[in-house]
This record gives sequence, C-alpha cells and structure tokens, in this order.
Amino acid sequence: MEQEFHKPCIGIIGGGPAGCFCAYQLQNVCDVTVFEMTSPLKTLLVTGGGRCNLAHAEYDFKELAKFYPRGEKFLYSVLSKFSTADTLEFFRAIGVETYTQQDNRIFPASNSAADVREKFLAALNVTFKKEKALRVNPFEGGLEIATDSGSYKFESIVVAVGGHAGYNIAKYLGHNIIDPSPALVGLKTDKVFTSGVVLKNVKTKIGKTVLQDDILFTHNGISGPLAFKISSLMAREKFPYTITLDLTGEIDLQERFNANPHKTLKNLVGELVPKSFAAEICPSGDIKCSQVSAKVREELMKNLRSLELKVLSTSGGGEVVTCGGVDLKEINPKTMESKLVPHLYFCGEVVDIDGFCGGFNLQNCWSTAFVAAENITHGLRRSTF
Ligand SMILES: Cc1cc2nc3c(=O)[nH]c(=O)nc-3n(C[C@H](O)[C@H](O)[C@H](O)COP(=O)(O)OP(=O)(O)OC[C@H]3O[C@@H](n4cnc5c(N)ncnc54)[C@H](O)[C@@H]3O)c2cc1C
Repeated sequence: MEQEFHKPCIGIIGGGPAGCFCAYQLQNVCDVTVFEMTSPLKTLLVTGGGRCNLAHAEYDFKELAKFYPRGEKFLYSVLSKFSTADTLEFFRAIGVETYTQQDNRIFPASNSAADVREKFLAALNVTFKKEKALRVNPFEGGLEIATDSGSYKFESIVVAVGGHAGYNIAKYLGHNIIDPSPALVGLKTDKVFTSGVVLKNVKTKIGKTVLQDDILFTHNGISGPLAFKISSLMAREKFPYTITLDLTGEIDLQERFNANPHKTLKNLVGELVPKSFAAEICPSGDIKCSQVSAKVREELMKNLRSLELKVLSTSGGGEVVTCGGVDLKEINPKTMESKLVPHLYFCGEVVDIDGFCGGFNLQNCWSTAFVAAENITHGLRRSTF
C-alpha cells in the first residue's frame, strides 16, 4: 500500500528578514506559519538609512566571512552554500533590481527599503500569525509553539527572533546565550570635540587589526564608519577602554613649520584637519610656526598621530546589531539545526554572528535562513500527527 505523505508543517518564529527568507525557501514544499508579533519585515524599513543595504559585493565566500567579527569560521560552510550572487539572484527573481555603490555596498535600484519590503511580501505565500511566541515545547514527533493566544504543533521550528528579544525561547530549550551587547553604534568618549566635524581616513589599531575609515565627532563622543567598526571589534570589552587615533598618518611637522614661519599654528594644522577641530587640538594655536617650542610640537604631534580617547559607553545611533546570542557551539553550521533539540533551527541575528556595516548582517540572514530551509526540505519526514 502506498504511504500517504502530506506537506510538512513548519513554524517560524519571527517575521524579520531571516524568518521571511526561510519562509520563502520553504513555501512551495511545506505548510509554513510565521509568528510575527509586530509586522512582517518591519525591521527592513530602517536598514541602510531607508535604502536597504541588502548585500556586499564580495563574491568570494571566505573573503566575505572576514567581515564578521563574530562567526567568521562558522560562516564558511553557510556562505559556501548561499552567498552574495545567490542573494542578488533572489532579489532579481522577486523584481528587485540592484546596484553596487563605490564602496561595494549593494542597494536596490529604487533606493527604497519600503519597495524591497513590498516586493518581498508579495512573493510570500505563507500564513502569518500576529502572535507572540512564548515557548517551544518538544513532544513525541515534533515541536509545539506556545504563543500568547494558543499552541500549535509543527514538525520543525525555525527561531528567527533577531537580536533584541526572544532569547528566552532558546534558553528554555537548554541553549546557552552569549551575553548580548550592542555593536555598530556610536561611542561616548571622555574628550568631546566640535559636533559634526568629520575626519577622513583616520587609522586605529584594535588588537592586531588596523582599521582606517572616516570618523564623525558628536555631542558626546564619536560616530561614523570608524566608530562603528571600533564598537564592533570592542563589543565584548568592558568600559572604559582606550583607543588611539592616528589622524594624519606620517607627516614632518618641523618641515611644515620651516616652510610657513608666519602662519599661526592653528591655521597650519587647519590644513591637515578641519579648522574648528584644529583649534581644539592645538596647544597655543595663536603662536606663529617660527615660535613653536619642541614641547608644543611634541604635544601637537601626539594629538595628530596618537590622539587618545577613553571610551565610556555606547551612545546609540548606527545599525545597532547585537553581538552575542545563541552559542555557535550548539548549532550545526552545515544545517543551522540545534545540536541539543532535533528539528529546531536558528537563523539571522539571534545567533552569535554579527558583521560590520555594509550589508553583512542582512547577508547573514539570507544565508543562514537558506541553509536552515535547505536542511528542512532535505530531511522531510512523514508527519506523525
Ligand atoms: C537602524 C538599522 C539599520 C540597519 N541597516 C542595515 C543594512 O543596511 N544592511 C544590513 O545588512 N544590516 C542592517 N541592519 C541590521 C539588520 O537590520 C539586522 O541584522 C536584521 O534585521 C536581522 O534580521 P532578523 O530577521 O534576524 O531579526 P529582526 O530583523 O530583528 O526580526 C525579528 C522579528 O522577530 C519578531 N519577534 C521577536 N520575538 C518574537 C516572538 N517571541 N514572537 C513573535 N515574533 C517575534 C520581531 O518582531 C521581528 O520582526 C540595520 C539595523 C538597524 C537597527
């Protein structure tokens, strides 16, 4: 007698980019229910300043993995299965054309996250339930989701709750959560300079990593690409910590003084850094270059080449991704399945993976969601309820 198979029921907790992408991958072969307590893909709207930086134009998966301070090695297998080119193919398939900016960030041609969201939602053919999942309970033959309004049985469950809420679900099932802390954020510092000043190509060294990018001074510290990278690499460091900024690179100040004896010190330095900032870092800025003492020159040189700032805390702004989440040791990188609870999967920001600014965090969503879906569809079992 022929066995009767029906479409397996899959529950996805979280209708952000990761949960929705997983749903899309499964929708033709499974009955998919997405539990989203707010609105599906709402979190996509703010990405890329409303433009949605949906991927990064690095097509070698090992090179791409280098942009993730947490998760680089884990992502080798994930990104080898689904990477930048696959992301672009998906978006083309749902009617989102893209372009690559000079800095390799990839955006929709419409420059509109709202447009991406609309097209993505139109391509989804799954059931959405506006309920908050509270707990996942394993039972013989499957997993049950208990929500604030009811309980539902599934053969497999994907947890895609993002980095801001929902760790309790994983914790309840015995998973270890690496302490969450914000990354890709502005930083509060002890010294504060004129707000709004941007310094180009500032260098700093974090451990063995040399970073070079633009920095923006804010009312209480620093922001901009370099600050976000620092916040990412130092996300697990205790506050306060000290950073040293090289603002100008190699320069011969004495030679410049000799060539401009009548210029004031702050005017000369104003050629190297923005003028309002020059006035703030010049000791005795009104004296003429010909009168600069060795002590003042040294102090100025220190400010330009190794400006020390004490970082006191994060200060918000930026992409704000979570460093931390479900411990990677407890997830199989080849399948995104929990090593503790069979048929339980994780994808997106809920796991302890985070990347720099530039499309890497959404790429993590697409890729981990794809791998989870791929494994669910490979392992389709006969429903037992
Ligand atoms: C301002 C900003 C700009 C950003 N810009 C970019 C960018 O341009 N490029 C980039 O790559 N990354 C960007 N990011 C990061 C990126 O948005 C996130 O990494 C990504 O949204 C994570 O997707 P996710 O699906 O894992 O989680 P989320 O997007 O957080 O989605 C999780 C969803 O699950 C729902 N949920 C949570 N708990 C429950 C529960 N118990 N029951 C039911 N539903 C639940 C939430 O309501 C939410 O909708 C940005 C982030 C921010 C904050």
